[in-house]
Amino acid sequence: MAIIKKLSLALCLSCLQLFSSISAAASTSTENHAEQSRTAAQQRIDTLFVYIDSDEIEDFTEFEAAMAEVESLLQADDTARQARYIRFQCRLFDSEIEGETEKAIAFASNALKNPMMLQYHQDRLDLKLCHTWFIQESGDVERAIKGYSEVIEEATLRQELLQIADASSHRGALLHYQGHFTQSLEDLITAHALFQRLNRPIEAEDLLVGIATIFRKIGDYENALKYYLQIEVRHAKDQELDYHNYVQVMIGIVEEKLGNLEAALSRFTAAYQYWDSQEKIEVKAEVAVNLASVFIEMGNIPQAMVYLDEAEAVVKADNFAIYSFMKLFRAKALLLSNQLDEAHLNIDAARISFDSVSNLRGTEQLLELESKLFSKEQDYQRAFASLSQYVDINKQLNEQRTSSKTIAMRTQFNSQQVEQENKHLVENQKLKQQEVEILEINKLQQLIIILMGSIILVILAVLTFKQSQKNRMLSILAMTDHLTQLPNRRQIYLKAQAFFNHARNHNSELSVISFDADHFKRINDTFGHETGDVALQTLAISAQELMRKPQIVGRTGGEEFLILLPDTNLTAAMRIATQLINNVKDADYRALPTGFTLTISAGVATLQASDLQLATLINRADDALYSAKNAGRNQAVCQKC
Ligand code: GH3
Ligand code: MG
Ligand code: MG
Repeated sequence: MAIIKKLSLALCLSCLQLFSSISAAASTSTENHAEQSRTAAQQRIDTLFVYIDSDEIEDFTEFEAAMAEVESLLQADDTARQARYIRFQCRLFDSEIEGETEKAIAFASNALKNPMMLQYHQDRLDLKLCHTWFIQESGDVERAIKGYSEVIEEATLRQELLQIADASSHRGALLHYQGHFTQSLEDLITAHALFQRLNRPIEAEDLLVGIATIFRKIGDYENALKYYLQIEVRHAKDQELDYHNYVQVMIGIVEEKLGNLEAALSRFTAAYQYWDSQEKIEVKAEVAVNLASVFIEMGNIPQAMVYLDEAEAVVKADNFAIYSFMKLFRAKALLLSNQLDEAHLNIDAARISFDSVSNLRGTEQLLELESKLFSKEQDYQRAFASLSQYVDINKQLNEQRTSSKTIAMRTQFNSQQVEQENKHLVENQKLKQQEVEILEINKLQQLIIILMGSIILVILAVLTFKQSQKNRMLSILAMTDHLTQLPNRRQIYLKAQAFFNHARNHNSELSVISFDADHFKRINDTFGHETGDVALQTLAISAQELMRKPQIVGRTGGEEFLILLPDTNLTAAMRIATQLINNVKDADYRALPTGFTLTISAGVATLQASDLQLATLINRADDALYSAKNAGRNQAVCQKC
């Protein structure tokens, strides 16, 4: 029971706090208004941040305008949004403009020292990413790789998936550029998987070309094809036809390497027709070189020659990547059609071109062809020399290819592991999110329970209070005489019994006075019943005024009253009775009709050892009253005094 009381008290207190906070809030309407506009500003900033971070922004002016609006709305004490603002501020710098890269680096390194940024990890990591990106733009690749690595490390610790993905994609691109294909592949695959899981398809797709190209470069044509086909599927519906046809050519090259000549041919033909329709002669000429290669493989030399002639008219010697192969393929075609001198000339041109870009794979093909050409001319010495060179390069490249294959396999394995880890990271994050949501729901439920409990308790308290008031009223009504407001017969007898018991138990004194209005019937008859009522009220007041605690007077019937006098002997009681009789007689009855008078008669008795019952004592007082009436009224009579 005590626990319930404590609990109710606690609930009531929290309820009171709640109500006081509600009423405090209501009473300060100006504060309320300020709070409302503050919340509105914050909501607007959040909307702008989402917009700033999205693909929706068309140009730099829009970005600047959005940032300016954020700045105008930012509140001094809102550090979370300030940190986010600083993070995006770094993107305001334009590396295309002279001196901006250095300014951006200075800005970001300063902002990173700002202690406020320390508590906002996501914003700080993003800022560091931006800082590193400008370092990369400044040309310091090594420092940029280090910066990205630091971001990846911390983002992995904090499970900030987007930052892992962003930093990995940047580091992957740099490693690709440096020729570190394996590490690059690992980064790009990690970033790709993360972007996909974070539902950022655009960023994910941007990485596919890089991944496919690396696989192609290390001679893993199966994987290269797999990724190119993914790109093709993604871009099947969009209007980027130039890009689509670039991918077609890449797929054609890989298909040709895999020996799928028909597939390669259809890819190259489609791209060729597209560029033809676009009147892009240079690109069309490049595709023509690819077509020529397939036709040579197919043994259709005349067709190959048509395409090579077309390319020859457009492709210049400084376009090494295409020119070298154009010359090589022509040499191949010429050898097959027995134009050996011409073939030599083309081989020499191709050699210069391959050498200038150190294309070993091109040189390897060239030497193999040259050896065949010398053999056909029966110049076995030269044929042997070319073959020896070919064998050396082939050995070198095979070693590379073997290690590339191993690396590719390992990367595939690693990337599967990375994907698994990423899956776990995402799942962990989901779980964390769910936990937070459950906690928040619990908090809300607790608050609702407390609130409802408090409301119920308040209602109960109000009801209980009202009921107790009602009960009190009822019990007062039950104990009080409605006309005189004195204790009624029941109450005065209960009190009398209590005094009687106490006096007997403690051997103390107890006297009683029984009094009755004289000729009251006549008063009613003469002045009316209402005057009679007022007379009774006046009489009650007179008696009440004489009482000193614990003395008490009650109305026992119509015009009859009883006074209880604990610790009072008969003499003292007689004195009080006489006083009362005089007071009643001399009371101020001017408010009543002229000629109104009132007297009472009283009988006094005191407790005797032989009184075993209260009634015995009261009967003696009543007998004395009877005597007083008989003796002529307006007097007090005591029994045996
Ligand atoms: P006595 O001196 O012998 O006591 O004569 P009495 O007329 O006072 O006695 P009686 O018992 O004959 O009449 C009592 C009257 O008191 C009768 C009744 O009308 C009147 N009375 C009783 N209660 C009330 C009341 O509440 N209001 C009024 N106005 N009169 C009352
Ligand atoms: Mg009377
Ligand atoms: Mg009477």
